[in-house]
Amino acid sequence: MNNNNSNELFERAKQSIPGGVNSPVRAFKSVGGTPVFIKSAKGAYLLDEDGNKYIDYINSWGPMILGHAYDPVVKAIQEKALDSTSFGAPTLLEIEMAELIKSMVPNVDLIRMVSSGTEACMSAIRLARGYTGKNKIIKFEGCYHGHADSFLVKAGSGVATLNIQTMPGVTAGVSVDTLTAPYNNLEAVKKLVEENKNEIAAVIIEPVAGNMGCILPQKNYLEGLRKICDEENIIFIFDEVMTGFRLSLGGAQEKLNIDADLVTYGKVIGGGLPVGAFGGRRKIMEHISPLGNVYQAGTLSGNPIAMIAGYTMLTELKNNPGIYKELDEKCSYLKKGLPEVFNKKGIKHRINSLGSMISIHFCDHDITDFETASKADIPLFNKFFHHMLEHGVYLPPSAYESWFLSNALTYENLDETIKAADSFQG
Ligand SMILES: *Cc1c(COP(=O)(O)O)cnc(C)c1O
Repeated sequence: MNNNNSNELFERAKQSIPGGVNSPVRAFKSVGGTPVFIKSAKGAYLLDEDGNKYIDYINSWGPMILGHAYDPVVKAIQEKALDSTSFGAPTLLEIEMAELIKSMVPNVDLIRMVSSGTEACMSAIRLARGYTGKNKIIKFEGCYHGHADSFLVKAGSGVATLNIQTMPGVTAGVSVDTLTAPYNNLEAVKKLVEENKNEIAAVIIEPVAGNMGCILPQKNYLEGLRKICDEENIIFIFDEVMTGFRLSLGGAQEKLNIDADLVTYGKVIGGGLPVGAFGGRRKIMEHISPLGNVYQAGTLSGNPIAMIAGYTMLTELKNNPGIYKELDEKCSYLKKGLPEVFNKKGIKHRINSLGSMISIHFCDHDITDFETASKADIPLFNKFFHHMLEHGVYLPPSAYESWFLSNALTYENLDETIKAADSFQG
């Protein structure tokens, strides 16, 4: 594999962009080596600046659920751009987008569009605080909700110690209001709620975690959290930036049959353009400005080009719900095929998956939370990552990320992927 151009571009990028990238994980820092620079993509394939072709399992971290350069989305963007790219004034398309989302997610009465998942989660927390009049939030170790200050409290190793460790640039004053608990541990949350009686505004969770590899909620876990939130007047927020419109039309709420009070979206909702959203029941959402006094705004929110991309993508999904079954089946195919090749070589592993989210941890214990995920063999994953890249398979460059399948993947692509894994010696 020739990487000359990518290597050169990376050196050049570092002269004017911090670390050569505009989002850290792209730099390959955790897996080592030099990132490949992407030139274009179509369907299931990425093409880099050296002419190497890869089967893509990142899909822009989720949005490209129907594959790259999906014709209807590309055409819609091209057409819309002719009518100007931004107005900063209301449009019919924003109403249609909101109505479409509501038709897919029944417990959303009102929805506000923003420009990223970070913005959506940050705004949802502000709303929960404004609505309840309480300050603290509970998040879970290993869950990612974007880079807003409140979410960057470093997850500690246990809940016994109140976690007030801070990140450079995040004040202790902000961090002290973010409490953390291990994922899949209901008792830890009960204890936090007990210790901070009437102080907790919101519990925010990835209903299926995807930012420590893919981790599923255990039986009755989300239901248990739902109950605690109901009893304690806490807003239960599902961060569906990853899972929304990916696990099903109604996201994790529908797939797992559980309702949150507020839901945040990103990734798929923008069809590959910068879009996020947060929504929920009217009685909570009506506290957002200009209806209520919780302020939230955005110059490019509801941008017509972003809206038409998302609207077209969601319409495709809604009109062809069989896509989700096809994705499930493709994911199951990998989940069956990969263990066969690993078992042959005695490579210990666990594969977690749901819908079109899947990840491999190299270890001999179940992966249920951040601690178990971090005890997997990370150096072996990094070696696996580079092996797969060499063999034309582009996996997320971190053991702590879920892979995202697109429906452009063919069974030949899946076979090629399994075959590439088959030549991995461990
Ligand atoms: C990606 C992600 C975010 C952040 O979204 P951005 O668009 O990158 O700001 C938030 N929550 C979850 C669960 C995510 O996966």
